Amino acid sequence: MREMNTSPVRYRAFIGGQFVDAEKGEVFESEDPFSGEKWALVPRCRAADADRAVEAAHKAFTGGPWPALTASARGQLLCRLADLILENAQALADIEVRDNGKLMAEMAVQVRYASQWFRYFGGLADKIEGSVIPIDKPDMLNFTRREPLGVIAAIVPWNSPLLLMSWKIAPALAAGNTVVVKPSEYTSASALEFARLVEKAGFPPGVFNVVTGFGAEVGEPLALHPKVAKIAFTGGDASGRRVYRAAASQLKPVVLELGGKSPNIVFDDCVMDDAVKGAVSGIFAASGQTCIAGSRLLVQDTIHTEYLDRLVRFAGTAKLGDPRLATTQVGPITTHPQHKKVLDYIAIGREEGAELVLGGKPAEVEGSKSGLFVQPSIFSGVNNAMRIAQEEIFGPVLSVIPFHDEEEAVAIANDTLYGLAAGVWTTSIRRAIAMSNALRAGTVWVNTYRAVSYMSPFGGFKMSGFGRENGQHAIDEYLQTKSVWINTALEVPNPFTLR
Ligand code: NAD
Repeated sequence: MREMNTSPVRYRAFIGGQFVDAEKGEVFESEDPFSGEKWALVPRCRAADADRAVEAAHKAFTGGPWPALTASARGQLLCRLADLILENAQALADIEVRDNGKLMAEMAVQVRYASQWFRYFGGLADKIEGSVIPIDKPDMLNFTRREPLGVIAAIVPWNSPLLLMSWKIAPALAAGNTVVVKPSEYTSASALEFARLVEKAGFPPGVFNVVTGFGAEVGEPLALHPKVAKIAFTGGDASGRRVYRAAASQLKPVVLELGGKSPNIVFDDCVMDDAVKGAVSGIFAASGQTCIAGSRLLVQDTIHTEYLDRLVRFAGTAKLGDPRLATTQVGPITTHPQHKKVLDYIAIGREEGAELVLGGKPAEVEGSKSGLFVQPSIFSGVNNAMRIAQEEIFGPVLSVIPFHDEEEAVAIANDTLYGLAAGVWTTSIRRAIAMSNALRAGTVWVNTYRAVSYMSPFGGFKMSGFGRENGQHAIDEYLQTKSVWINTALEVPNPFTLR
């Protein structure tokens, strides 16, 4: 929650239904990536705060109104929350744009769309069913119950804070769990504004909690907390490994949604204008700061020269500017470390011998004082073994790699540690099917890119993680199955044998 009369805006964490300061009273600043203004003060939570939040969530899970609610009532609360997100969509979008630098044009739609996760999983809440097993033993009733796990720690990155939080908490709450959210230290405000809506919807205290702060100071203690039943993590693979180790130390399950180096593959039978737009959407939308960025563009050698020429001309017209303006197409990089990382990778690409055919420099943008813009940048002549083809840059930097035929395209596309997504541009239905079968990625798009829905499973192959978000089965990540045996015989048989 924020105090409106002070400047910068002062936020508080949300624990046990109360907006509270960090136990030590510490705060840190959050920067507007366009203006450079330090616009918010956010609680710097630590282990003691993680502990308070988990205890509140555990209390709400084990007693009081939440576990006593019918599944239908739980679903209705989620639908009420969906309504409140829609009613407050503009305010939430304003905060996301200010804290993250993402385009208003995208956020106004994305925040409204996030409400659908609550409606969809709210609808699923009372369709969680066990089964009666026609068990192979006389005088015995055996049935299953599908039960929530307990306290879920939802650890979220900065690139789409509300949406990625929704992917976790909507199914977790629909299944009857309680949650502690740890947003990114760069974009904490929207989760705290969201907490007001959770409160208003009427969720019992402790069902939803938010602790803010840094990964090592509050994220890790949260992951290590013995009363956290499962961790749902989205972020980079280095933090993902630390979270996985923390979970392993207590034999706790995790869902890991990690990074990617996704191939976007252009065949010579594509509709070239569409494939040009598809490449731009894959890497320059959201300034390339998406896990699904199509950062490796594989182009068939027969059309390579013409296609690259058209791509460079089109990408060169992208309008950098104030993310609040409807005319802006590329906004700032969200954080200073990320800005440095993007420029470092551009230098690495040059050193590796790739040819920079567009951009390659920091960009000056009128009205911006943050210094966080980077020109949309394209390297051609990239070899798949280069670092700029293998490592996630998470910025507006595209590596263009030529290929000769389908077989070579598949070999290059799959030659990566990651496997989050892939794109294919072709008018051949045979090729579309063959490629989508052969690509080792959790999502394959044909003649489109960056499509996601609450209805369709999302997750990684290989080092992009495991577990799935979205779609009906995402709720299974937050349930466990209990088998119940009821003896209906008139007397208990021989106690010394297995029944
Ligand atoms: P990050 O890994 O630095 O941080 C993610 C979250 O983890 C933050 O809240 C951070 O504070 C927390 N964290 C960091 N160290 C931790 C620790 N030891 N214990 C517990 N929590 C810890 O990632 P980021 O820079 O915020 O986001 C960018 C990364 O996220 C990229 O690699 C991107 O590909 C990935 N990402 C993946 C998906 C997906 O669905 N696969 C979606 C978006 C972003």
